[in-house]
Order: sequence, then structure tokens, then C-alpha cells
Amino acid sequence: MKKLLLKEKWPELWALLAHEGPLYLPVEEGSVVLYQLWQEGVKVNLEAVNSTVSPKDIFLPREETYLRYSCQGEMLDLEDVESDEPIIAFALHPCDLKAIEMIDRVFLNQDPPDALYKKRRENTTVVALACRQPDPYCFCGVFGIDPTDAPGADVMAYLTEKGLLLEEQTAKGKILLEKAAPLLEVEADETNITVDVKTQDFGLQVEGLPEDLQERFNDPVWDDLFRSCLGCGICTYVCPTCYCFDVEDYGHEEGGERFRCWDSCMFGHFTQMAGGHNPRPSRKERVRQRFMHKLCYYPETYGEIACVGCGRCLRSCPVNLDIVQAIKALGGEKVG
Ligand code: SF4
Ligand code: SF4
Repeated sequence: MKKLLLKEKWPELWALLAHEGPLYLPVEEGSVVLYQLWQEGVKVNLEAVNSTVSPKDIFLPREETYLRYSCQGEMLDLEDVESDEPIIAFALHPCDLKAIEMIDRVFLNQDPPDALYKKRRENTTVVALACRQPDPYCFCGVFGIDPTDAPGADVMAYLTEKGLLLEEQTAKGKILLEKAAPLLEVEADETNITVDVKTQDFGLQVEGLPEDLQERFNDPVWDDLFRSCLGCGICTYVCPTCYCFDVEDYGHEEGGERFRCWDSCMFGHFTQMAGGHNPRPSRKERVRQRFMHKLCYYPETYGEIACVGCGRCLRSCPVNLDIVQAIKALGGEKVG
């Protein structure tokens, strides 16, 4: 059954949840909305359809310490950097949760799975927020995503005039709502809310595209498609399904640490070898890699295109070289 959290009680809920552990939610900062840690005074924005950067960094932080070590003579001590803190990810939209499912496959479907990522996923309770209206860049329907439903969520939330309707989906979600119980009320007239959200499709038709691209690595389309790209990498940073990272060490005689941070296949040095060779020497190879990965390589391995139609690359690319333009250039358009 859905329970109502009245608008005036939202700050009480944030404070209650943040007391348990890190609480991430969409926070407005000037003209951008980012998933940030809640603290007294932040401007939470649940009306924003899509945050400027996706919430993937709740699970895959922009930078994180992977291991820390100290040395004494020839002895090396490793410090455990994993944390058991319970995390709450609040108000993630269905497309972003679908993207996290895609990143899960990469970090968890391996032996061994990525330990830090796995820990963070297990420790996190996800509250998804159904969309009420699409923004002009949303096209999640092209990839079969329902903007009003998020199957991977622990709690499903719906914005109404009075506040937030919350419904548990898993045992973790049940625990969260039990904690919030003193703030919630049952509202018979709002428990059967239905949301009808229509997103545009930009005339795209992606069925069969991954198979078609398998033979088009050397297609002439790549000779032109890359030309406007500035190599700024913003498309990969805002994208919820991009997950490239770099690993670096820094240390001194007494110890040091290894950390990883986001990287981008759009950067020239991304594939540069220690000896100087670079298998993707120009923007042509790098643009091809970005789009082939999303539209051909990922689906070859995991069975679906690595785009959720969030529209962030459409909004952010300074030269409009976004995935919609790429799909159209590659022939993924409806005929007639
Ligand atoms: S495609 Fe656009 S956003 Fe991506 S690197 Fe090129 S110019 Fe930057
Ligand atoms: S490729 Fe663009 S539209 Fe697709 S998930 Fe990434 S940022 Fe969103």
C-alpha cells in the first residue's frame, strides 16, 4: 500500500534518513541539479526531471581510494577501505536506475566482482521517483523504459500535489518505510495514482542496429561523423551508462594509496600505451569507440543497447554530436 509523506514533512524525512548514513538526493546548485549528500540548508529539487550529471557516482564515485598501504622496512600493511555504512539513494528516475542495472553487469558479473562497487550496491537502499512529465530531451521509450516504473528500486515514489506517495518494493524498502512510519499517513484517495508520461522518440528505430553495426567498423560514415567533436569528454561524464575509469598510485617511503577516478574514451591519452603507441590516435577512432560501444559492443555482450534515453548528451554536447545524431547517421531512423 502507498503511504503519503506530506510536503511539509520532507525535511524531517531527510534529517531522519541522513542520521542513519549518507543520504544522496537531487540538490539544486545554481543552474545545475546534482545528486549530493543531504545536509541542513541544501536546496532539494524533486521536480527536476533529469539531474545535470547522472547519479552513477553514488555507486561509482568520481574518485575513490581503492587501497591504502603503509611500509615499515620491507613490511607492507594494507588498510581495508571498504565501508559498511548504509547509504540511501533518493529520487532516482527510472532511466537512471536502468543505467545502474547496465553498470552492475560490468562490475558484478565477473569473478571476482568489483569489491568496492559490490559493497556500495549492497549497502544502498534505492528510492526511485516516477517521472511526471518528460523534459524535451527525454527519449527513454525508444529503449523500452517506462518512466513511471523502476523495477530495480527498493521503494517507488510518486510526486503528487500534496507530497510524495511511497510504496515498498523489497525487504530493504520495507525497513526504510518502517523507519519513516511516524511521518507517513495513508491517503485512500491517492493510493491508486496512475501516471501517464509520453516521451518523444526523435524518429528513432533501433531494432537490429547492433547486429547491423557488427560489420560496419570501417564504414565511411565514421569519416565524417567525428568531425565536429571537440574531445571535451562531457558526453561521457554526464552519461549514466559510461563507466570508464583510470587507476593511479601515489606514495612515498612510508606508504601511499591507489585510487581510481572517472576517465573518458573521448580523451586522446585514454588508450595511450606506456611505449607511446595509441590504438585510437584521432577523434575519429574515439568517436567511433563511444558509439560502437553503446550501440554494438555492449549489446553484443549483454543483449541491450547501452543508452537509456536520458537526453543528457543531447543537452550537454557543445556541438550537438549526441547519440540521437549518431543513431540517425548510422541508419537507425523510422522509414516513412
Ligand atoms: S561528442 Fe560532444 S560532448 Fe562528447 S567529446 Fe565530442 S564535443 Fe565533447
Ligand atoms: S548516450 Fe546520451 S541519452 Fe544515452 S544514456 Fe548516455 S547521456 Fe543519456
